[in-house]
Amino acid sequence: MGRGWQGAVMRVLGARDHELTLLSAHDVCTGFRRLRFSSPTLLAEVAPEPAAWVRIWFPDPAHPGREVQRGYTIAEADPETGELDIDVVIHEPAGPASAWATTAVPGATVMAQSYGSEPFVADPAARGLLLVGDPSAVPAVNGILRAVPDVPVELFLEQHHDHERDIPLAPHPSLHVTRVPHSPGALAGSIGSRDWANWQVWAAGESAALRALRALRGRPGGTKANTYLQAYWIRGRAMGRTRDDTSGPVPD
Ligand SMILES: Cc1cc2nc3c(=O)[nH]c(=O)nc-3n(C[C@H](O)[C@H](O)[C@H](O)COP(=O)(O)OP(=O)(O)OC[C@H]3O[C@@H](n4cnc5c(N)ncnc54)[C@H](O)[C@@H]3O)c2cc1C
Repeated sequence: MGRGWQGAVMRVLGARDHELTLLSAHDVCTGFRRLRFSSPTLLAEVAPEPAAWVRIWFPDPAHPGREVQRGYTIAEADPETGELDIDVVIHEPAGPASAWATTAVPGATVMAQSYGSEPFVADPAARGLLLVGDPSAVPAVNGILRAVPDVPVELFLEQHHDHERDIPLAPHPSLHVTRVPHSPGALAGSIGSRDWANWQVWAAGESAALRALRALRGRPGGTKANTYLQAYWIRGRAMGRTRDDTSGPVPD
């Protein structure tokens, strides 16, 4: 299978292929599908820490013989058995990853690589934790919620459809959730009105929504170590097809 320039870059970086075999797939709720995989080797290379993610190569239905890479969070995993769960947002228009997640049957395989994953590390000095995202970030958010101690947690979730309320959130004793219906600037508008001095910030989701949050970097007490902003997808554009792919950390 051809992997284009991204595949060449990953080869140069020494990324190793790990086979994932689909064991089962089910809809957690409308538009959110859980895939359970088995991999004999992946979890020896990437620890399933909160928000850890992998690069999965999916067949591109538009270009037979070609594969494209997409980032997905390890939602849950058991290193003993080598089994892991990936939660996939099923969106329209579909892309190679969401299409595969909808149609693949047990026994189907894809390859995964681990490179660049930055698991969440709690800042013990923070006054609280600000989490921002949309459904694509919920697997990471849930991993973080399961790991952080009883500190105030404010979660702002950008919502594109009513059914997204059904996506389960991990319980946390001090969690407060604000759902923000999507419109340009709405997420940044609702977050920006608060004083986030000395809070830890973790945010991931649609590229434009994330760009609008860059001002959070300048909050009192904000450092590189306690601030994480990452674009997970781009409205109206496939990820990873071109050299100027803007996935990855939001630029200053
Ligand atoms: C580090 C990292 C971790 C991630 N973890 C997860 C995860 O655990 N679960 C998850 O579902 N996603 C996750 N994502 C996001 C996922 O990689 C992207 O959504 C990706 O674009 C999906 O690929 P695709 O082939 O389905 O669609 P693409 O071919 O990339 O895009 C096709 C069309 O779908 C639209 N689109 C893409 N994603 C979405 C979306 N989420 N909602 C609505 N429209 C969309 C695009 O704008 C485009 O118009 C993660 C991304 C990164 C970088």
